[in-house]
Amino acid sequence: MGRILTLIEDRKRVQRELERNLPTEVVERARRDPHRRRIPRPCGITIHTSVGCSNRCVYCYIYDMGFPATVEKYPLTAEGVVYALSLNRYVAPARTLAAYGSVTEPFNPITKSFSLKLMKLVHRYLGLPSQVSTKSILNGDTVSGLAAADPRFSILVTVVTIDRARVLEPYAPSPIDRIVHAGYASRYLHTSLFIRPVIPGVTDAEIDRIIKVSVEHGVKHIVVGSLRVTRGVLSRIHGVDPQLHKDIISRLSREPRGGQITVAETDVKDRIIRSAMDYQLKIYTSACQANIDAHKEFCNMCRMGPCGNTGRVGAADEGDIAEFLEHSGIRLGGIRLSRDGVDIEMRGRIRRERIEYVKRFLEQVLRLRVEIRNR
Ligand code: SF4
Ligand code: SF4
Repeated sequence: MGRILTLIEDRKRVQRELERNLPTEVVERARRDPHRRRIPRPCGITIHTSVGCSNRCVYCYIYDMGFPATVEKYPLTAEGVVYALSLNRYVAPARTLAAYGSVTEPFNPITKSFSLKLMKLVHRYLGLPSQVSTKSILNGDTVSGLAAADPRFSILVTVVTIDRARVLEPYAPSPIDRIVHAGYASRYLHTSLFIRPVIPGVTDAEIDRIIKVSVEHGVKHIVVGSLRVTRGVLSRIHGVDPQLHKDIISRLSREPRGGQITVAETDVKDRIIRSAMDYQLKIYTSACQANIDAHKEFCNMCRMGPCGNTGRVGAADEGDIAEFLEHSGIRLGGIRLSRDGVDIEMRGRIRRERIEYVKRFLEQVLRLRVEIRNR
């Protein structure tokens, strides 16, 4: 059996093992859980450790996605979440990146032990390279729990302001404490200062101090990412700082209407990157780059690549891809595989969903761009 089908078989083996051991009600619930169907993005599959967040950062859009401003336990056991992931046909063991902390704070006291257990089980059963973003204080037991879950865990500690934190992140721990403990975590795990979302006029005004303090405490990496706003975010920002609201509005190409819109701030990010270069930090312009680097892996899945360890190219060859396509019932016209990506020609009428699945799954496995033509 080739390498791609082996990955699928590994996932099914986990599925069977958990199914045998889990109570029926957990199995039933996991089959309806969103982790079963969520499609990974380039940063990986987002894994939710709880529901909602009580930090109430004014720039956070999760409240406009329907999440509460409190932290509620995830309505499934940790084993149940792993089982739901094992049912997800887009998840490739050891290849799909796992991203924790995108819509909640994983180390909130209510959910910290659940999060650490979930991270450990996901890595033990599926081997997904793990990354977490957090505003919590990374004390000894959190860091040792993360190291026990995945010895190459990529940690992102968010700091976007020091002076304005009480206004913009009213219930989150002090940013100085976050930085001090990020330095502590850096001794054991790949830890990055996470400057996301960059708040124009705020983050850039403070960046030299943020970076200086971080470097003094031993942080060596930085991830820079943009601010995305919704109508709700704009309204909350207006409520605490009308001038900041005006500055952000001036950078928008259009009204956010129902969804999210990214703030144009290349100039501000450039300013941050220059400061990081002055302090000789390793700079990532996307969270996935830090995860790939932490795990010494390679990725060339998007136009920002190639990223990481070029010695790790080659998770599968053309024969493995052909075998996988045949197994998926696809008549093959041809495959061209290079370090830049893979071009696949398919013959016959193939449903759009199937093509979409093949593309997304192969991207996870190969970590390359996948182009498909169907004639
Ligand atoms: S800590 Fe993160 S998830 Fe929680 S409110 Fe702030 S930005 Fe949102
Ligand atoms: S090529 Fe780099 S930026 Fe693009 S998805 Fe891969 S790690 Fe992320």
